[in-house]
Amino acid sequence: MTTIFQNASMQLGKAFEILKTRDDLRDLLINPKRIIQVSIPVKMDNGKINVFHGYRVQHNDMRGPFKGGIRFHPEVNLDEVKALALWMTFKNVVANNPFGGAKGGVVVDYKELSSNELERLSRGYIAAIKEFIGSQRDIPAPDVYTNPQIMSWMADEYSKLIGENAFGMITGKPTIFGGSELRDIATALGGLFILDEAVKKLKLKNKTVAVQGFGNAGGVAAQLLYDSGYTVVAVSDSKGGIYNPKGLDIPQLMLHKEKTDAVLEFKDCKNITQEELLELDIGVLIPAALSEVITNKNAEKIKAQIILELANGPTTAEADEILNKRGILVVPDILANSGGVTVSYFEWVQNNTGMYWKNEEVKEKLKEKMTNAFNTLWRESELHKTSMRTAAYVYGVRVLTEVMKLRGYS
Ligand code: NAD
Repeated sequence: MTTIFQNASMQLGKAFEILKTRDDLRDLLINPKRIIQVSIPVKMDNGKINVFHGYRVQHNDMRGPFKGGIRFHPEVNLDEVKALALWMTFKNVVANNPFGGAKGGVVVDYKELSSNELERLSRGYIAAIKEFIGSQRDIPAPDVYTNPQIMSWMADEYSKLIGENAFGMITGKPTIFGGSELRDIATALGGLFILDEAVKKLKLKNKTVAVQGFGNAGGVAAQLLYDSGYTVVAVSDSKGGIYNPKGLDIPQLMLHKEKTDAVLEFKDCKNITQEELLELDIGVLIPAALSEVITNKNAEKIKAQIILELANGPTTAEADEILNKRGILVVPDILANSGGVTVSYFEWVQNNTGMYWKNEEVKEKLKEKMTNAFNTLWRESELHKTSMRTAAYVYGVRVLTEVMKLRGYS
């Protein structure tokens, strides 16, 4: 079985073949520049010390400081963090943000920690990697199970350690503490702008959508799709999915989820499994939860015409081949979910200049960047007669190798 980092490397490999990239540059573009592995002692509420293990993988900083989120999850492992860091490098090229790529992770089940323990862990992680981060070095952000409160503790800890307020060292902060307008919905909003472009290209009539995952990416996407005239017929969370072919009332569903902590048992809906959701007869499928959910076992059964990858790495390499052969348009993760890091870039610019932008200004800037990114990769995919994913890596490798040559790697 291929690991998730091998999967990411294979995606890059296709671009290397098309561009006939030199072996030494291939090595530099696949492997991270630096891997930081830390042990974080945390005093628990019962007075005992627990040691947590964490990583920061800095993949590539040829185009600017490293940038990427921090994940708190019990299944965090080095292979996954390496893949996520590599994807961040290419995501930033595709979205034309002046950053490289990185990712962090701590092996922890946050549900088992009190708020005070979570704060001590967040501060401990930043103290452990402080030499390697900073607004011109490496800028973390939220990812799965980290949030604006955690970013605030981290910004405070770093500021104390270096003896000055340093808000630009981390993004995803609350708006009253240096955050940007729209950062909370940026990933889903960016995905919607991109989906609108894809729908136009395919002249897609069937605007029914199924969304796997109902958190920051999937839940917000369902709401925005509902508001802009798509018919969301199915959604799921970790407990299972629901389906109504006539469409779901998403605002009511949000209230139901708040009350019951699940989407299951929503009025006028049939409960369905994750597998059934992925295989529904719909126009658009949005995986927005886990990696590797579209595999060689279900790729033949998928009926959607567009797959918008809001999750990172939801499609295995084998499944990708099958979907391409079947003519399904897969909008790859490094494009589809790049709205999040793009508004993080806006946040960093605002922190560094001290000028803060209004909601509409951020929205307009995001729309322009997402539309440009989609159309650049669409043209690239036509030019090379290849999938949008391979086109994204071809574009990314070409830009990065040009920059590397300018910096003397030739
Ligand atoms: P989140 O923690 O807010 O939400 C995750 C959702 O997935 C929850 O609704 C959870 O119930 C659901 N889930 C968990 N296990 C599931 C399962 N087996 N089947 C179906 N649903 C399940 O996380 P998020 O921020 O929404 O991130 C989701 C994905 O999007 C991740 O791959 C993440 O890396 C990616 N992503 C998020 C952002 C962002 O800004 N939030 C940006 C880029 C990429």
